[in-house]
Amino acid sequence: MVRRYDAVVVGSGFGGSVAACRLAERGLRVLVLERGRRWRTEEFPREAADAWLYQVDRPEIHNGWIDFRIFRNVAVVQGAGVGGGSLIYANVFVPAEPVAFESGWPPEISYSELAPHYERCGTMLDVTELPDGQLTARYQLMRDAAKAIGASERLRKLPLAISFDRDWSYELPAATDPTNSTPFHNKFGRLQGTCVHCGNCDLGCPVRARNTLDLNYLAQAEDHGAEIRALHFVTGIVPDGSGYRVHYDRVDNGRRVGESVAAERVVLAAGALNSTELLLRCRDVQKSLPLVSQTLGRGWCANGDFLTPAITPDRTISPTRGPTITAAIDYLDGSDGGHRYFVEDGGFPDVIGNALRSVLGRSLIGKQLFRGYQSAIELALAGRDPSQCLMPWFGQGVDASNGVMTLEPDVLDPDGWDLDLDWEPGPSQGVIQALIDRHKVLAAATGGSAVVPLSWTLLKYIVTPHPLGGCNMGTDPTNGVVDHRGEVFGYPNLYVLDGSIVPRALGINPSRTIAALAERAVSLMQ
Ligand SMILES: Cc1cc2nc3c(=O)[nH]c(=O)nc-3n(C[C@H](O)[C@H](O)[C@H](O)COP(=O)(O)OP(=O)(O)OC[C@H]3O[C@@H](n4cnc5c(N)ncnc54)[C@H](O)[C@@H]3O)c2cc1C
Ligand code: SF4
Repeated sequence: MVRRYDAVVVGSGFGGSVAACRLAERGLRVLVLERGRRWRTEEFPREAADAWLYQVDRPEIHNGWIDFRIFRNVAVVQGAGVGGGSLIYANVFVPAEPVAFESGWPPEISYSELAPHYERCGTMLDVTELPDGQLTARYQLMRDAAKAIGASERLRKLPLAISFDRDWSYELPAATDPTNSTPFHNKFGRLQGTCVHCGNCDLGCPVRARNTLDLNYLAQAEDHGAEIRALHFVTGIVPDGSGYRVHYDRVDNGRRVGESVAAERVVLAAGALNSTELLLRCRDVQKSLPLVSQTLGRGWCANGDFLTPAITPDRTISPTRGPTITAAIDYLDGSDGGHRYFVEDGGFPDVIGNALRSVLGRSLIGKQLFRGYQSAIELALAGRDPSQCLMPWFGQGVDASNGVMTLEPDVLDPDGWDLDLDWEPGPSQGVIQALIDRHKVLAAATGGSAVVPLSWTLLKYIVTPHPLGGCNMGTDPTNGVVDHRGEVFGYPNLYVLDGSIVPRALGINPSRTIAALAERAVSLMQ
């Protein structure tokens, strides 16, 4: 007999965790199906041979840390595992600015409407800023750079979902050693530790100082009876009586075992690419949800992300130390020729080379991307130690939402279909170039020189960790896939709550907006 739940949530990232938690708090029977593993601290990938890669066509074999998808003009990085993107992200949990709500949204969504929900999820993740006694070398460089170009008022510390011990400092003996972390139980009763600035955020925190979703929203969901099943890859959704049947493949000893459950309501929260792909399969291949809007797959954007390495020979930057991102220099006001962007620092872990080699080494474009970055940096370093003087200038901007996702026939499998993402860089070139030019100015102002990767200068190829759109919010099915509450037009009680419903670039790290939209949507569910 098929088990029936009040709600099935697909995916356990920012949208899925909020939905699971708030629905379980109401006393509903909630099941979360997550394609990735439930990671334990000691299993986080570090060595070249570890489980780095998540491969959507072979999850029974490759169910590792990073889902890296390569398309013609853009590559997309996403997390996989219980906690979704919070496992891999750089802990920046920042609201979008009011200007981001001036166009592109249904009339019900505004900054003031989202404000209480931004507050609520910020409290859940216990956001705080980098303590003054723990300023990283990258933060100090950003502060000096902003001052040197007369932009000090644009510099700000960012809200971070990290637990700090105010008594920790770089002056401590072996400061970054895990023994300098102070263990504590968080407000959900989960054991955490405080940050020792080891720099490994994107690859999992060895002392559990990052307030990832498994330690707050998902912990609360489980305490209220929600069931979370890792390594369950959802493959289809079919209307079933008053609700839906959800089909999935359970990974069992290197095999995929097909099973299904039923639910009164389904919350699809598999991320911008994966939710869109699943609905495309349901509408166009399986034909189980034929009424889904024809706008499905359209309106995707990369959120204008770009990283420009710079060599700053006279300063010690130590990019492998400290939380990955701590501050921003804010140009979202459009004062730079109308381009809106947000400059950030971007650290990288000591073992990032292992991750890149493993993930990018599997395709020709990936290898070229890796070599392009590597050779440009090696040339500029001229023998200097990158762990000392390399400053990764990072940031994002308000780019064009002109990407289109479709299913294309799989060249290797006559019955198969693959996701394709067609993104033309042209309309976004202006804002990305403005961000790069600002990186160059900031680097030069602090005695450095920026190294713009050839993948951009020659090919206009970008890599984004912030995919948004694909199941865009709209006012009706002619201009959107879901309404302002995330409900799919034509399918009552089927919701999409993740980055795929964000209908435009935010120009700022998106996870808090995704969580706030989910908080609001669940508060409106009957
Ligand atoms: C390296 C990196 C750093 C980042 N840093 C930041 C940052 O500092 N701040 C910020 O705001 N954003 C950051 N981001 C972006 C952020 O992680 C995403 O915007 C966010 O996670 C998206 O939330 P979501 O709910 O849409 O989906 P996700 O968080 O991606 O969650 C989707 C979940 O669904 C699961 N899933 C997918 N398909 C299926 C399926 N078929 N069946 C079952 N489960 C499925 C996935 O495994 C995943 O766990 C970063 C991203 C990366 C890659
Ligand atoms: S720098 Fe990041 S990974 Fe290292 S202790 Fe702090 S939060 Fe954890």
